[in-house]
Amino acid sequence: MKGKLYIVATPIGNLDDITLRAINTLKQVDIIIAEDTRHSLKLLNHLEITKPLISYHRHNEEEKTDMILNKIEEGNNIALISDAGTPVISDPGEFIVKEALERNIDVVPIPGACAIITALMAAGVNTRSFTFYGFLSLNKKIRNKELEQIRSNRNTIILYEAPHKIINTLKDLENYVGDRKIVLARELTKIHEEFIRSNIDELIENINNIKVELILIIEGATEKTEEENNYRTRLSIMKI
Ligand code: SAM
Repeated sequence: MKGKLYIVATPIGNLDDITLRAINTLKQVDIIIAEDTRHSLKLLNHLEITKPLISYHRHNEEEKTDMILNKIEEGNNIALISDAGTPVISDPGEFIVKEALERNIDVVPIPGACAIITALMAAGVNTRSFTFYGFLSLNKKIRNKELEQIRSNRNTIILYEAPHKIINTLKDLENYVGDRKIVLARELTKIHEEFIRSNIDELIENINNIKVELILIIEGATEKTEEENNYRTRLSIMKI
């Protein structure tokens, strides 16, 4: 009989943020595939789980997927975990999930911590509708398009960002989006967890050299900001 592919969420900081179902799944599967096996070993040692590990990351996912799915077809149950949080969300997994479904392999999500939802829970913003952009593209053309979309998007906007790129991203946001409310959530679930609720320009002025994990939540466009955007567009046309 075929095995199954389990997509298992792990903590984003606090090691207690893992569900009983996730722990049981990791104990029961035959093999665990992990982004960085050395990193995941810390969690698995903490949970006293010893399993064969296969490294599976952005640079080898296409090459390893076939071998992993063959193992599932031979009867092995396999769990995919990422370095932190929910696999597949800005982490490896989308490819293997699609391929597994093509091969009629059951894919079972085991939910848990995810930085997006964790940040939204305490940000104090509109949570009825939100758009998650992941990391803004590094390709300038695509990035500018994304920023233009963000400018007129009425949903709450959620962005992942690396600490060393935060100032750049905030400046891009200020240029395209103008001065909106923003929440920077850093070190979620960790001892020094902090929510900085501010405006984009204030945040740029006051932000220090951040070296920790962070996520940005930006207020969606409103009628007022739409009018300001139109004004900005008119001004830039006049400059041309
Ligand atoms: N799949 C993960 C999840 O479920 O959140 C996200 C993986 S993505 C490669 C990593 C990004 O998630 C970081 O750059 C940061 O933006 C965000 N992130 C992850 N853990 C975080 C934390 N503890 N506090 C704030 N942001 C975090």
